[in-house]
Amino acid sequence: MVDYKKVYLDNNATTAVAPEVLEEMLPLLKDSYGNPSSSYSFGVAVRESIERARSVVAASINALPEEIIFTSCGTESDNTAILSALEAHPDKRHIITTAVEHPAVLNVCRRMEGRGYAVTYLRVDSDGRLDTKAFEDALTDDTAVVSIMFANNETGVMFPIEALGRLIKRTQGKNALFHTDAVQAVGKVPVDVQKLNVDMLSLSGHKLHAPKGVGALYVRKGTPFYPLIIGGHQEHGYRSGTENAASIAGLGKACELSTVGLTEEAVYLGKLRDKLEAAVLSACTGAIINGRAAERLPNTSSISFEHIDGEAILMLLDNSGIYAASGSACSSGSGKPSHVLEAMSVPVSAVHGSIRFSLSRYNDSADIDRLIDILPGVITKLREISPLSRPSTCTR
Ligand code: PLP
Repeated sequence: MVDYKKVYLDNNATTAVAPEVLEEMLPLLKDSYGNPSSSYSFGVAVRESIERARSVVAASINALPEEIIFTSCGTESDNTAILSALEAHPDKRHIITTAVEHPAVLNVCRRMEGRGYAVTYLRVDSDGRLDTKAFEDALTDDTAVVSIMFANNETGVMFPIEALGRLIKRTQGKNALFHTDAVQAVGKVPVDVQKLNVDMLSLSGHKLHAPKGVGALYVRKGTPFYPLIIGGHQEHGYRSGTENAASIAGLGKACELSTVGLTEEAVYLGKLRDKLEAAVLSACTGAIINGRAAERLPNTSSISFEHIDGEAILMLLDNSGIYAASGSACSSGSGKPSHVLEAMSVPVSAVHGSIRFSLSRYNDSADIDRLIDILPGVITKLREISPLSRPSTCTR
């Protein structure tokens, strides 16, 4: 097998654990394994690590430490937020979300639809942008919860959460609780809960160089809250279960690292992403950048290649040690076209040939060069052999 350097371009799916994060976690995995709820010093030291991490995670989004609940992942945070809001408003039967949310939100809404709730799935335009007038029109005094993502995991398109939060307060839907899934935003762009007008916000460790299996839910002070996981008194009874202390400490370190380097990293990633897109557009005819005209995360590029199967592109890239995603991370492999690109009315001829490249601080210009050495040949080859193929070709 050829020993290519691995080129990992799937950071919206999951990221490498940062060495500094691993360092922070190791003592809690090796020696400091005491129960954080115990009163003996061996457990108290672990409790202190958790509380330190809580303060850092809170500071990274400008929240108070007591507004942070540690969870097992972004999915749990999303589920908890929506179900808690519905329990807080037992008299209201309406949910507003968007057609392009992650399944961690969409599938909760669908389940509640089956239980008699009315759900508005707001549509987006061809660049993935939300119609704020449609949002305003959808709000009623029966709206219990609004759950709208901060940034889309497939396209990187960002929604105007701050403005939407202001709108809610101005309408007859003002008592609705506002949740945002910021799983793809935290660590990539500034997130300040004091400005956002949200009641709840989800984040996930493994998207920002902490390990898998840890997340957090911000719940604004004074927001009525009903836990999803019920048991002991951990997390002040808001999320029971013995704390994943090592991963929580890792999440704290990851938030610290991303806060310190946020602006420089966003500029760095934006330049890499722009280089990638310019090179693909010049080398491949029939390539379309999805959401190009919208405000996007600096690290994400969703590109559709007409008349080709995205899974085949991924396979050939994989043969060269390049890893990317087709459609959303979680539905990849399902064979179903991406619901996000469908909602953006990406033509059928292109939706199946859509690839998401997502970058992190560990990517560099050489990674993009390597991709550009390989990708145009892959596209040309597939167009030659594909029954879906059309005459458009690549020039490299
Ligand atoms: N929300 C968004 C926008 C995501 O991209 C993801 C993961 O891909 C999730 C939620 C779920 O996060 P987790 O994998 O931590 O459950």
